[in-house]
Amino acid sequence: MSKSINLQELLRPNIRGISPYSSARSEFSGDAEVFLDANENFQDFVETSGSPRNRYPDPFQRELKERVAKLFGISAEMLFLGNGSDEAIDLLYRAFAIPGVDKSVILPPTYGVYKVFADVNDIEVVRVPLTDTFTIDMDTLREVVESETEQQLKLLFVCSPNNPTGNSVDPALLQQVLELFPGIVVVDEAYQDFSNNPSALDLLGLYGNLVVLRTFSKAWGLANVRLGMAIASPEIAEVLKNIKYPYNLSGPAQEVALSALEAEPQVREGIREIITSRGELAEALTEIPYVKHVYPSDANFILVKVSDADRLYTELRRIGIIIRNRNSEPGCEGCVRITIGSDAENERLLSAMKDLGGMA
Ligand code: PMP
Repeated sequence: MSKSINLQELLRPNIRGISPYSSARSEFSGDAEVFLDANENFQDFVETSGSPRNRYPDPFQRELKERVAKLFGISAEMLFLGNGSDEAIDLLYRAFAIPGVDKSVILPPTYGVYKVFADVNDIEVVRVPLTDTFTIDMDTLREVVESETEQQLKLLFVCSPNNPTGNSVDPALLQQVLELFPGIVVVDEAYQDFSNNPSALDLLGLYGNLVVLRTFSKAWGLANVRLGMAIASPEIAEVLKNIKYPYNLSGPAQEVALSALEAEPQVREGIREIITSRGELAEALTEIPYVKHVYPSDANFILVKVSDADRLYTELRRIGIIIRNRNSEPGCEGCVRITIGSDAENERLLSAMKDLGGMA
């Protein structure tokens, strides 16, 4: 199974063949003694060990891209780097979906940003809720594809492992989705580093309509730095690069990410620790009487069904422990989402939850 696409047809007409802004640093990027081309300030008021703060960063993020491409075993042309993967989600809407005309498909309960950026871009969202085991409802998805105007279904967001449910999409099912959907299928793998499920990156050579999102905010511990990625065919990656803010990644962000990549062995060890803690926390949670179900997780969080999610959330907040209340999310009634913390934080949470035994 495989699929090629007519990219020009899928793109918004105003995006086809768009010329990117040509910045000073994109016109000249070599070494020189005197730089008077970018209207920068020649004075640097901040003491730093990194590159001077008064100069614009590399708009093409060449060094970082080479390193990240090596990390994923892909060519650098397949890579778009953004201000968090949230930037890539917004740009995908802007590249492909015509405001007031086109539609995107989401599979709730899932990451809320897919709907927010649809709203921002005036794109109607078609919901295909996950089944009660949080798997993709292929029959309903097929009905949607058959009943909607094919040309208007531009984007489908699959989150794997899914936030907030924590489970991954079966690779065979994902291939069925890629075959079926007429537009771009975005597979958000923000939590993939915590999973043993095969990555959708393996399918990039087969499906021209696939975009994979990754982020440095989770396993790499760089949520503050804002660095996310879209990995796709060179043609799709090129479109995203052409429409991004010219200097969308700050120099400090690029430098910190390069340092983190140097620490890859420690990051891998950190992932193993989180996975071990996840198993321990899940087991301990099942022993609490008012915990009704602990959902299996491939991510760095656990979805937990309790007898009174609102009350648990409020009681924990009162004593300074913040978890995410998902009770009002359709499909997650009675659930809270708990991020795996340090051993001390997990212990504190468990002890506080045990003290709330009267909630049963
Ligand atoms: N995708 C998913 C599924 C997420 O849960 C999050 C963050 N909560 C993001 C993307 C955003 O990641 P970033 O920090 O790279 O914008």
